[in-house]
Amino acid sequence: MTVATYLRISYEDQEMKKAVKTESNSIANQRNLISNFIGKHPEFEHARIVEFCDDGWSGRNFERPAVRELLNQVQDGRIRCIVVKDLSRFGRNYLEVGNYISRVFPFLNVRFIAVNDNFDSSNPMAAESLEVSFKTLLHDIYSRDLSHKVKNSLRFQARQGKCMAAFAPYGYVKDAGHKNRMIPDPDAAENVRSVFRMAADGMTTLQIAREMNHRNILTPMQYKRMNGSNRTIPNRIHEDNFWTPETVIKILRDERYTGKAVFGKRKREGAGNTRQVTVNKAEWITVDHAHESIISQVEFDQAQKKLRAYAKRGTVRKTENLLHKKVRCGICGRCMMRTGSRKNPSYTCMTSCMTEVYPCPTERIAQADLLEIIQKNMQEQVKYAVDSSQIWEERQRHIENQEVLERDNSEKKLCMLKQSHNRIESYIQELYEKFAFGELDRDAYVRLKKAALERYGNVSKQIEELELKMGHGKMNGRMENRFEENKISVIEKPMKDMIADVLRAVIVYPGKRVEVVWDYRDEFSASVF
Ligand SMILES: [Zn+2]
Repeated sequence: MTVATYLRISYEDQEMKKAVKTESNSIANQRNLISNFIGKHPEFEHARIVEFCDDGWSGRNFERPAVRELLNQVQDGRIRCIVVKDLSRFGRNYLEVGNYISRVFPFLNVRFIAVNDNFDSSNPMAAESLEVSFKTLLHDIYSRDLSHKVKNSLRFQARQGKCMAAFAPYGYVKDAGHKNRMIPDPDAAENVRSVFRMAADGMTTLQIAREMNHRNILTPMQYKRMNGSNRTIPNRIHEDNFWTPETVIKILRDERYTGKAVFGKRKREGAGNTRQVTVNKAEWITVDHAHESIISQVEFDQAQKKLRAYAKRGTVRKTENLLHKKVRCGICGRCMMRTGSRKNPSYTCMTSCMTEVYPCPTERIAQADLLEIIQKNMQEQVKYAVDSSQIWEERQRHIENQEVLERDNSEKKLCMLKQSHNRIESYIQELYEKFAFGELDRDAYVRLKKAALERYGNVSKQIEELELKMGHGKMNGRMENRFEENKISVIEKPMKDMIADVLRAVIVYPGKRVEVVWDYRDEFSASVF
């Protein structure tokens, strides 16, 4: 048997640690607590223990590398039991956590234990326990509260002109002596200056990116990695490896290069949400001369003027672009650019305009072709949902039969126990009669009666336990068939809504090979293996 332990520490936890000095969520603490728990339970004696750990990840969703890996292994049937310190370590989103604990794990027959919450799914009481769901919900609320507290503390320090970002922007390093101050990093600062110079000379961001690649200058992310940071942004694996217009714009828009400290440009849309929204400039906290400048205000303003000029050139409005940000290149991973006429658009990968490193598809692919592929794929999805629904029904029937069988057995056993109960009662009665009529002496009577009472006590206990178990074992109730719901929604939704709601990406490979990635399909396969 393989038991997975899951540990998580988030950026907020680390901030809170400074604020309220609580160490209880440290990785070491979680690890100790779990291994103590496992050590105390004999059923884990020969189990193989595998640890999964997400360091620096928020629990608001399941987009964390270690938890993803854990869930993959669960799907593959490689893990029979998961142990965490408490539910909030596993996740802070009430709905998602609830779904795994009440549906996915029982379905896959995986035992789930949250040590500090006293939750163990193998306990028959646990399955429908309202208390647990409620506690998870509280964690979710607590998470909002926590992020609010951390945010306030950060804003306070930002007002004092301290560099609050976890990392200094490209071109600076954090001052070793003062954690919240930054100083120019000579090499990178020179690259920032050349980016601004090229912009002032009238080069487009694409031209600047190409030039930086041509000069073989490490990208900000490569540079950061080289200097020992292992922080990576998901989904950007390839983009990190060459300069793109986005990298260039990010530098050209960053006012911190003029010596200003800027805080609060973006915020999360809300707690429990990873999406960030841009904050109105009036709400930003800026402090002049917070650190040494790399770029003069004049140079900075010039670049802004040029950027505005590019922006004026026609951009497609989001609303009319059905596949906005969904068409990606299968080689470099970047979003493909929409080109061609408004009525007859097509997609093309721009990476080859910036660097020759990747063998990206060079041909354009028409939006009409993509939509046709998506529609075909969607029809397959409907079939898939129908099939999954049938598989689910069969499994459910099997589980129910199993329950009926178990109940029958328990009833037989209870009946036998009650019979032997009665037999012992009459035996004790007989003993007394024999003693009263002088057939037994006092010593023999006391000895035999004592032994009989002991047996009587044992049987009583067994009856009690069995009755208790049978009381709780009342059919857990039918689990909902989620595939049925999905099946209906898949069929009824028009194509446009499907694309907006559940189409994650259309990935284009050379030779116009196309892969369609649906968001809900993961859920399906997560539950069906
Ligand atoms: Zn590409």
